[in-house]
Amino acid sequence: METILSINNLNKIFGKKIHAVNNVSFEIKKGNVYGILGPNGSGKSTTLGIVLNVVNKTSGDFSWFNGSLETHDALKKVGAIIERPNFYPYMTAQENLELVCKIKNIPFTKVTEKLELVGLLDRKDSKFKTFSLGMKQRLAIASALLNDPEILILDEPTNGLDPQGIRQIRDLIRLIASQGTTILLASHLLDEVEKVCSHVVVLRFGKMLYEGPVDAMASNEGFFELQAKDSNALITILMNHNSVEKCVEEEGKVLVFLKNKLEADELNQFLFENQIVLSQLIKKKHSLEEQFLQLTK
Ligand code: ADP
Ligand code: MG
Repeated sequence: METILSINNLNKIFGKKIHAVNNVSFEIKKGNVYGILGPNGSGKSTTLGIVLNVVNKTSGDFSWFNGSLETHDALKKVGAIIERPNFYPYMTAQENLELVCKIKNIPFTKVTEKLELVGLLDRKDSKFKTFSLGMKQRLAIASALLNDPEILILDEPTNGLDPQGIRQIRDLIRLIASQGTTILLASHLLDEVEKVCSHVVVLRFGKMLYEGPVDAMASNEGFFELQAKDSNALITILMNHNSVEKCVEEEGKVLVFLKNKLEADELNQFLFENQIVLSQLIKKKHSLEEQFLQLTK
């Protein structure tokens, strides 16, 4: 599968203290719908800002389209909406999009095509200021798609919308994805990511808790919270266990995510046999999904 974007050990530190993006790595493959899921303040927008060249990274790397293009040229193949849609209020939908075409050197015929796609063709002659928030958002999506980008990036696409508007945007995202456009969206709503995404990256305090297919997250076997003198040795041993999916170090504790069922006593014995003595072992009954719901309540 073709790689659209790869992010490697990306970090962003604001000022001296705020580690907004903490060693984040993931890949975006063509044709999938990715969600970056995390509570407010978890680093989603900062991550999007970095790959879109509007926020400077502190360290790490990202590359578009396998590094075949300079970021500036690569971004011409990216459609992104990371702020509230902003158009000229007294111009119509048609006029606003034609203006975008002029600036980006795109034929006007695209305007009709994209207005139809987002369900606004019958409102093409209405002024932007008469649109509901949901319609404004759909117009922004039409605008971002005018040049047929390889990937569409959306930051919290349904924020502030009423239930009907939310439904329309989610249906639209699925429609766009079904036509082959890769999508990356940031959301604090698990529900949204489950409904529209095929893959998810879960962030919390800037760190990745999970990365993989959405289905696998939903069927997660729960996780352990462990503590030992030497976290690195602990993680090395854990990664040799075939029930362990992933380990994340957080505030001196090691979170162990499972891919198969594993009981606390089994894990404890395994570690002891490998010369690791735990000072803490907690089996979290919650699946990652339930855990996430609690985090974002
Ligand atoms: P999310 O999009 O997941 O809600 P953000 O990426 O916006 O999270 O923010 C991540 C962290 O970085 C938060 O603690 C936020 O306060 C901080 N942050 C974001 N932008 C700035 C900035 N320009 N200056 C300082 N801190 C920032
Ligand atoms: Mg955000």
